[in-house]
Order: sequence, then structure tokens, then C-alpha cells
Amino acid sequence: MSKTIAHFIGGKQVAGQGRKAPVFNPATGAQSGEVALATTAEVRAAVQNAVQASDGWANTPPLRRARILNAFLHILEQRIDELAAVITAEHGKVLSDAKGEIQRGMEVVEFATAAPQLLKGEVTENVGSKVDSHSVRQPLGVVAGITPFNFPAMVPMWMFPVALACGNCFILKPSERVPSAALLIAAWLKEAGLPDGVFNVVQGDKEAVDALLFDPDIQAISFVGSTPIAKYIYETAARTGKRCQALGGAKNHMIIMPDADLDQAVDALMGAAYGSAGERCMAISVAVPVGEATANALMSKLEPKVRALRVGPGTDAEAEMGPLVTKQHLDKVRGYIDSGVAEGAKLVVDGRGLKLQGYENGNFIGGTLFDHVTTDMTIYKEEIFGPVLSVVRADSYATAAKWINDHEYGNGTAIFTRDGDAAREFANQIKVGMVGINVPIPVPMAFHSFGGWKASLFGDMHMHGPEGVRFYSRLKTITSRWPTGIRAGAEFVMPTMK
Ligand code: NAD
Repeated sequence: MSKTIAHFIGGKQVAGQGRKAPVFNPATGAQSGEVALATTAEVRAAVQNAVQASDGWANTPPLRRARILNAFLHILEQRIDELAAVITAEHGKVLSDAKGEIQRGMEVVEFATAAPQLLKGEVTENVGSKVDSHSVRQPLGVVAGITPFNFPAMVPMWMFPVALACGNCFILKPSERVPSAALLIAAWLKEAGLPDGVFNVVQGDKEAVDALLFDPDIQAISFVGSTPIAKYIYETAARTGKRCQALGGAKNHMIIMPDADLDQAVDALMGAAYGSAGERCMAISVAVPVGEATANALMSKLEPKVRALRVGPGTDAEAEMGPLVTKQHLDKVRGYIDSGVAEGAKLVVDGRGLKLQGYENGNFIGGTLFDHVTTDMTIYKEEIFGPVLSVVRADSYATAAKWINDHEYGNGTAIFTRDGDAAREFANQIKVGMVGINVPIPVPMAFHSFGGWKASLFGDMHMHGPEGVRFYSRLKTITSRWPTGIRAGAEFVMPTMK
């Protein structure tokens, strides 16, 4: 263990003066470094740097901002392997998956390079006699993003490309478990031509988050993480008068109808439930086959595939699934499996016993499959965030849809069917923010917006796409009349069109 992972403030790395937290390699269990945890004063220094850069960046023509983002995109294309290796070393996910998340993030950068088009306003001539109105979207100023461990590059990239394109300065507070990716991103943005102070990184935990929440110069907060913290962020931001979008946890169901192509559904479930060791907010953690025959056929195809899952370190090109992020999280996921057994679910494949030679101290767990889970069980109600799939058998489509609608979370969901009526009814009626029809992980593309419903999102606007542009800009409407030689005289009634 040698390196200390720093902040990035005002265009350079800044060593922290406060507390430190250990950072681990999840595959080996060894400590790989320590990360600085920002003090309130250090966060304030970062915000002040951003405030100083703010006017210059807001007044930089959108096309010039777009060109810098374009240069950043090219750097990412060339160095994707370097960033993926950093992600795998701290998060644990397999390298191909790390590259996948960077690619999804790059799509948002690409979207943001359309800044000149995205920020075009609206004009109406002659709203009154010789009076014109136009609306423009202006930057908010300094905004902050607080991100979770599970997507060290993609989730920050849901936020800052759009924020920067709109002319804001950005403070990123990454997860203290995966702090290094943010520093590479900051260095590459600078190399792409971003002026110092426009993008800053403060490493840290609750102290840094609270410093951002209570800083009077932060205008908006974007958050992605677990639901209790999302709720806290949203409530506090509302109290301190900040715009806020706070994305929370998930429990995503996939309905398998009797007419579904079962092989396709099983392949989809394998990737969606066990990819990234289930540590995805769009992972499918509940499969709902409709009818006993569908359930039995699904289980007979699913079980051997779960048993055959290849688990290994993220650097192993053969591995389909890496370790969990921390020892504490491994214990939590094991605890959920214990509770499923205790509450009477049928444990079909048990991942708890997995041991990998040479990686005995890694946070590994095998793919786990439960059948006959019921909706009153803890493993059904709570987010596990691990490679544990619960099969809940439904007697009808209506029952399955009701369970989804009644669930606390509403991030993503999917239906597998060949029946257009059922698919349309599902898309139209289901109370979930992102819906897949024969698509297991319906993560919207960058030019649409990402966000869930219910306890999966607090706030009004989703991330990236058109909602992202609205979130990171505010509307100003200008009404103008130029002197024409006509004097209307003083008017004391509400102005109306004459
Ligand atoms: P987390 O809530 O523990 O942490 C998220 C961020 O909040 C981190 O930056 C962390 O430092 C900070 N934080 C933690 N505790 C805090 C506290 N008490 N006060 C203030 N800030 C605090 O989440 P995580 O474990 O890093 O990530 C996993 C969670 O994120 C899962 O629940 C997952 O579903 C969710 N997630 C949701 C989405 C989505 O789009 N809805 C996407 C990815 C992850």
C-alpha cells in the first residue's frame, strides 16, 4: 500500500489535510491505497475555485465548450483501457464490463457536444404590437454531483458533460470506495482544454457531502446512491434552496409470460441478474414467471446456467462476474441469503461457499438462485445489490403487474412476451420509470433521460438527455419593445394584448 488518492481543485491534485480512508482491491482483499476525506474547509476551497471560474465558463460560447468536450471524448476513446483498469482495480467488475460503462458514459459526452443545438431558445415575434419575446436557458453557476461506488465513470458522466455543456462549473464527490477514476477524468478534461476550476473533485464521505449541501454557492445537487441517502440529500437540498435530483435504490422485476421465448428470457436474466455481480441499479433481481408451467420450464433452464457461471477476478478475460466491492457488502449479501433460507424460500443454487484458489481473501460469492420467494419475504422487499435472483411465481399477468406496482421501488422493469397486447398494457400501466419489452436492462440512451419512479428517484427531473439540459439550466424570458415614437402613457391595469 503506498498511494494516497487526492482531490483535484483548481486544475491540480491537492493532498488532503483531513481524515483518510483505506481503499481495497476487491479481488485480492489487499489495501491498495488510502483516499483523502475532504474537510468542510477543503470543500469550501473547491467551491470558491469553481465560483472564480464560473463567469468565464458561462460566457464561453457553447460551440467552444462543445469542442472541449469533443477533445475529451477523443481522449477517452484512446485511453479507455487505462480507465477500465482503474475501475476494475477498485470496483472489481470484469474489464469488459468496465469498458462497457465507460462507453455508455461516452455517449453522454457525445450528446453534450451538441450544446449549441441543445441550448437554442425560443422566440415569438409580436406578442403584442411591436413587442417581441424570447426565452433563453442560462447556466445555474456551480453545481455538484455525488456518486455511488457501482459506476465510477458512467454515473459521473451522466451528470458533468451536460452540466459543463450548459455552462456550469462542477464539483464531483465520488464514492470513497472507488476514488481514482474521477482523478483520471479530471486530468483528461484539463488536457482537453477545460479551464482550471471548471471541474473539481473532492474526495470524501458524509462530511464532504454535507459541506456541499450547505454551501451557499452550490446551486444544484445531482445524487445517485441508496434510497435512504437519496431521501436525505433531497430533503436537505430542499431546505437549503437547491435544485436537486436524487436517484435511489431499486428492485427490478422481469415478467416472463407463458408465450415468451424462454431461451431468450433465460439469457437475458443471466446477464441482467449476475452481470457486475448484481451491483447495478438496473439489475433484474426478481423474475416473475406467469403460470406454473412457465415457472418450471424457466427453472430447469436457469439452474444449470447459474451453476456454470464463471466467477473470477475482473482482470481474468474468462470471468463473467467479479467480486463484490467490500467485505462488509459481502457479509450483507450473505446475510440476505441466510434470511431467505430462514424465511422459507427454496435455495436452488447457493453461492455462499465459493472459494477461488489464489483469491481466498477476495470478496467473492457465487451466483445464487432462489425459487418460491413470496412478496412478504425480506429478500423480496429489500435491495440486495448482489448476484442473488429471486423467482416469485405468479398465477396471472395481473398478479405480477400488481406486485410491481405495489413495490416500494420503481427504477426499471421488463416483460418477455410475444403478445403485443400484453406488452402494450404493461408499458402503459406499469408504475416504473424505465420499461423494457424483451429488453432486460432498459437503460435509456444518452439522448433520452434516465430515472426511476417512487423510492428510486426524489426530484422532478431525470438525468442526461433533454431532462438533464433542463436540470442544469434555468429559463429566462425577455420581452422587448424598442422605441417607435408611440407613447402609450402610464398604464395601471394588468398589461394585455391590444
Ligand atoms: P450510498 O448511498 O452508500 O453512497 C452514495 C454516495 O453517498 C457516496 O458518494 C457516499 O460517499 C455518499 N454517502 C454515503 N453515506 C452518506 C451519508 N450518511 N450522508 C451523506 N452522504 C453519504 O450508495 P453506494 O453503496 O455507493 O451505491 C449503491 C446504491 O446506489 C444502490 O442502492 C444502488 O441501487 C444505487 N444506485 C442507483 C442508481 C440509479 O440510477 N437509481 C444508479 C447506481 C446506483
